[in-house]
Amino acid sequence: MVAPLKVAGIESGVEASLDPRDWEEFRAQAHRMLDDILTYTERIRERPVWRESPEAVLEGFREELPRRPVELAALHERFLHEILPYAVGNAHPGFFGWVHGGGTPVGMLAEMLAAGLNANVAGRNQVPLLVERQVVEWMRELFGFPHGAGGLFVTGTSAANLMAVLVARALALGTDVRSEGVSGKRLVGYASAAAHESMARAMDVAGLGMRALRRIPVDEAFRIDVGALKEAIAADRRAGLRPFFVAGNAGTVDTGAVDDLAAVGQVARRENIWFHVDGAFGALAMLAPELSPKLAGIERADSIAFDFHKWGQVPYDAGFVLIRDGALQERTFATEAGYLRREGRGLAAGSPWPCDLGFDQSRGFRALKVWFTLQAYGAERLGRVISGTCELARYLKERIEEEPELELAAPVELNIVCFRYRCEDSDVVNREIAVDLQESGMAAPSTTVIGGRAAIRAAIVNHRTRKEDIDRLVRATLEMGAARVPRGAWYAGA
Ligand SMILES: *Cc1c(COP(=O)(O)O)cnc(C)c1O
Repeated sequence: MVAPLKVAGIESGVEASLDPRDWEEFRAQAHRMLDDILTYTERIRERPVWRESPEAVLEGFREELPRRPVELAALHERFLHEILPYAVGNAHPGFFGWVHGGGTPVGMLAEMLAAGLNANVAGRNQVPLLVERQVVEWMRELFGFPHGAGGLFVTGTSAANLMAVLVARALALGTDVRSEGVSGKRLVGYASAAAHESMARAMDVAGLGMRALRRIPVDEAFRIDVGALKEAIAADRRAGLRPFFVAGNAGTVDTGAVDDLAAVGQVARRENIWFHVDGAFGALAMLAPELSPKLAGIERADSIAFDFHKWGQVPYDAGFVLIRDGALQERTFATEAGYLRREGRGLAAGSPWPCDLGFDQSRGFRALKVWFTLQAYGAERLGRVISGTCELARYLKERIEEEPELELAAPVELNIVCFRYRCEDSDVVNREIAVDLQESGMAAPSTTVIGGRAAIRAAIVNHRTRKEDIDRLVRATLEMGAARVPRGAWYAGA
């Protein structure tokens, strides 16, 4: 049992408040913390990308609930020595795993300011809402959506994909589905076999079942087979099911493939079903003039899900959903509650509120770090970062083609390169090489499965990554491979 805390001085308010008693001392400590984290970023190249957390460190995270205060300076020390060195490492230019953004110092500062302000951006009459609406408008403009389109910050594309499914579900079944549920109404959706798992999870959470997401085969470039999509829709209609949703990919998670969005959109229009785009990282290719033509057709989507925390380099988390029909979005989520009553003036003015446009009530001020990032760097420079990562991917592709021990495992469309070390027992060896690389601290790719075979996967997302980091990845892969595979045992071009 927790003993009730006796708080002295409630009357004076001094002890009860959690603000510092000595602001000068606190300020000095705060500046040390800020300096240390900036130095971390400034000198990140001197660190290993990742390292295993030692048992002695893990031990410290099995302590009991602290009853008494611990000095802030001591906590800062623990952060520096026990947390910071053992994070995933995606701020590092040698991090190539999954699809993780690098973050920026500007984004970090904005996040700090947002935390200091502690605005709850559920609603109310406040400028932070306008900051979020400003970003929505900027995205509306970027993607060529009409006035009246809606948008919302969410945790990530997983949540954004779910939002899209829920709005599409409300369109297909009417907003009665909110009170009546989906029972018996057999809605089916479509996405390519290369779609992210969050698409199926969205169907699960929306009460439609993961099997109601039809996984359409892909072509040799891992793009959805549009003919097969049409056939699947026709077959489902014949079986008495109700097609309502199709998701195109703007950058698949495995290989960065971009579906023919114009063709998928055309099928959706002809079939009168919702056209969603999962553009988790790829949608922001719209910021890069030489890449945006690849996304042609995205401007016709009913909804787009993407993350600012991947290619947008905004610190985690900053997912976003853009919905063509903003009024439908509001009808899908808004409820009436006495405590959420709106007024024409005062704090309860300014409707609609973000809480009317999604399933979160309380929510942080994610929009601020995006608003800062888009302005402090400018959309053009962010676009250059994005195209720069694609250039590095092409460079990595060339380096792989030059090395007889290595082979490409998939076409390089954007910023993701899948490759293998050629050898016998290649699945096991390539997974081992990826782990060896991670443990070496030199480079951190992840793995995936391409055409049933394991591949090392390098997603180049971080604005800090340079050619030398790609060279190190190639060199280290060859070293690790040579150490794993006895000399002469690899075969070229089998
Ligand atoms: C990362 C990713 C997701 C999931 O996004 P989160 O922000 O991690 O929720 C969905 N789709 C694709 C293509 C992704 O790359």
